[in-house]
Amino acid sequence: NEQDVPEAIQDGKANNKKSKTAAAPTFADLNLDSRLVQAINSEKFATPTPVQTKAIPLALAGQDVLARAKTGSGKTLAYLLPLLHAILARHASDGKKVARTTALILVPTKELATQVTGALKTFTAFCAGGIRFENISRKEDPAVTKARLAEKPDVVVATPGQASKWLDQEALQVDGLRHLVIDEADLVLNYGYEDDLQTLSTALPPGVQKIMTSATLRTEIDTLTALFFPDAAKPAILDLS
Ligand code: ADP
Ligand code: MG
Repeated sequence: NEQDVPEAIQDGKANNKKSKTAAAPTFADLNLDSRLVQAINSEKFATPTPVQTKAIPLALAGQDVLARAKTGSGKTLAYLLPLLHAILARHASDGKKVARTTALILVPTKELATQVTGALKTFTAFCAGGIRFENISRKEDPAVTKARLAEKPDVVVATPGQASKWLDQEALQVDGLRHLVIDEADLVLNYGYEDDLQTLSTALPPGVQKIMTSATLRTEIDTLTALFFPDAAKPAILDLS
C-alpha cells in the first residue's frame, strides 16, 4: 500500500522504475552465448557496466578496440565475454577437431595473470570443460610450462616477457591466433615490455583481432598504434574515463 510508505522511499521506487525503463542495457541485449549468460547470472551481475555495454558489441563484431575506463569499471569482462563467445562459436562450427591457441591475453604482472585466469575459470564454468586456458606467468619448472603449451590451450594468459620467451622457444604457437588482448596496456608499456610487444606483434598472423584496455591512455596510444596498427585500419577507441 503506497500510502503507508514515506515519501522519500516512494521517490526512490519511482527513480528505480525510471532508470529501468530508460533502456538500461542488460546482458541479454548483448546476445552472448547462453553458457556465458549462465555464468553471469551465477555471479549475480545485474547489468553490464558502461565499458562492457560499449565494448562487447564492437568486439563481437570482430572490431579492434582500445578501451579506456577507470580501474574497477569492469574492463576484464569487456574483453573476456566476447572472446569466450567467439571461441564457443568456433568450437560449434569446427567440432573442436583441431586444438589451437586462438587467444593470447597479455597482462603487466603475474598477479593480474592470476586474476584474469580466475575470471576465465568463473566465466567458463558452464562450458563443460569446453574452453581450455593456461596461465604461463607462474614460476614453475619450464618443462611443465612447455607441456601445458603443447596442449594448445584455447586461451593463454601471460606477461609479454613470458609470452615472447616461449614464442622464441617455439613452445607458444601464434600461427592460429585470432585474438590478442593487452590488458592494462598503460602498465604493460610502463613496465618496459615494449620490446616483447614488438617481438609478438611481428609474429602475429594477419587478421588477429586486437583488444586493449587501459586506465589511462596518453602517449601510450601512439606506441600501441605504431606497434599494432601500422596500416590504415585503426581500432575503435572507447573513452569512458
Ligand atoms: P577493471 O579491469 O576495469 O579495473 P575489473 O574487470 O577488474 O575492472 O572489474 C572490477 C570488479 O567488478 C570485479 O570484481 C568484477 O567481478 C566486477 N564486475 C565486473 N563486471 C560487473 C558487472 N557487470 N556487474 C557487477 N560487477 C561487475
Ligand atoms: Mg583490469
